[in-house]
Amino acid sequence: MTLSRALTLGLLLALPATTGAQTAIAPDLDPRVQQIVAAVSETRLKTRATTLVGFGTRESMSDTTSAIRGIGAARQWIHDELRRSSGRLQVSFDTHVIAPQGRFTRQTELRNVMAVLPGRSARRIYVTGHYDSLNLGSGGQQALNAGGGQNPQARAGFDHDTPAPGANDDGSGTVLTMELARVFAESGLQFDATLVFICWAGEEQGLVGSAAHAQQLAADQVTVEANFNNDIVGNIHGGNGVIDAETVRVYAVGPEDSMSRSLARYIQRVAALYVPSHRIRLMAREDRFGRGSDQSSFTRQGFPAVVFREANENFAKQHTAADTLEGVDFAYLAQNARVNAASAASLALAPAAPKVTGPTGANLLTRGPSGYDAQLTWNAVPGAVAYRIAWRDTWSNDWQHRQTIGDATEFVLPNVSIDDFVFGVAAVGADGHESLTSAYVSPVRRSADVKVVKP
Ligand SMILES: [Zn+2]
Repeated sequence: MTLSRALTLGLLLALPATTGAQTAIAPDLDPRVQQIVAAVSETRLKTRATTLVGFGTRESMSDTTSAIRGIGAARQWIHDELRRSSGRLQVSFDTHVIAPQGRFTRQTELRNVMAVLPGRSARRIYVTGHYDSLNLGSGGQQALNAGGGQNPQARAGFDHDTPAPGANDDGSGTVLTMELARVFAESGLQFDATLVFICWAGEEQGLVGSAAHAQQLAADQVTVEANFNNDIVGNIHGGNGVIDAETVRVYAVGPEDSMSRSLARYIQRVAALYVPSHRIRLMAREDRFGRGSDQSSFTRQGFPAVVFREANENFAKQHTAADTLEGVDFAYLAQNARVNAASAASLALAPAAPKVTGPTGANLLTRGPSGYDAQLTWNAVPGAVAYRIAWRDTWSNDWQHRQTIGDATEFVLPNVSIDDFVFGVAAVGADGHESLTSAYVSPVRRSADVKVVKP
């Protein structure tokens, strides 16, 4: 390396830069987002969770004819309650008839309950939780975790109408989703993105309701920018005795520079601004070890998604009759709702993320005419007034350097090697809100096996 190149590189790396998401460059607090965060009602979360538990069970194959008990009564109440929340919400059943398979021992009509708040653009941001519940019988999830038995759901004679209150799994995520639908619609704001709030069915049978929905989205080529999935987000007393009401886990599937990881970093940065009393613990994996939820129906179709999980779980209560309201701390659930609200609102007010690949899928990142620079190019985004470049060491998992530039679609970092750093670019709107950061991801090189002549 020549002295001048070393100096240039040294200067670049000494730019006002940050090392962690919590202190990254960010827009000033937007009073509109603050208002949305402040509108989250702990009381309403509790009242609605109480009603939900009152249906006795919400198991996906439970009774659909009663007006007071079973999944049929529950979904109708969620539907009507969303409709009562705001006239701006387009509320409907997203219905799928599921053929017998896996844990569905007979053909079953599943209804996801959906509320849409149309934005200026058709790109969608999802906030979701599953309203179906489950009682696996003695031991519940703890027995399954211990490897003590097979999942009994597919067995003949499994009782679908046994009490399954599901207050925390996933009554917590359901009422969080319903509350955000109300708060966003009642804010009166016109968002750039279209917000979709869905309470899923069939999660406990293998993410079936969300899978049917996401499959359809992919077939219809809908643009989905993010899915904020919430599953088991209301308990603060871990089964191991640890109590934590100040943190929440956010799981995001890789690879390192997937848009799901970009979404996770975004949530951590925005939450630090608007809900500084709550700490986001990012988890660089799809979900808890060996377990899953509806975000995976989205990532499977290539849509960015994360799942929120409470800090410490009590496995003994999950999937049993003991998953009752006493196990939900509504002040904690409200904090998790505020984190969702702040990050979904910021993202919905921001322009879309820039596309950093060309028509053939190749990265718009080159070494420039010198052969030794980082030349970044991206597609212009409607509504963007500026762009924010980010970069970091390849071995680091969060942006170390961020720099806002003007309304350009190209930027050169002289003497910064594209071999040694990861680069990304985000779009910034007129009111300072930033999109997700799109990273230039070096593809895994593939080659065919060498043909070897056997002796
Ligand atoms: Zn669940």
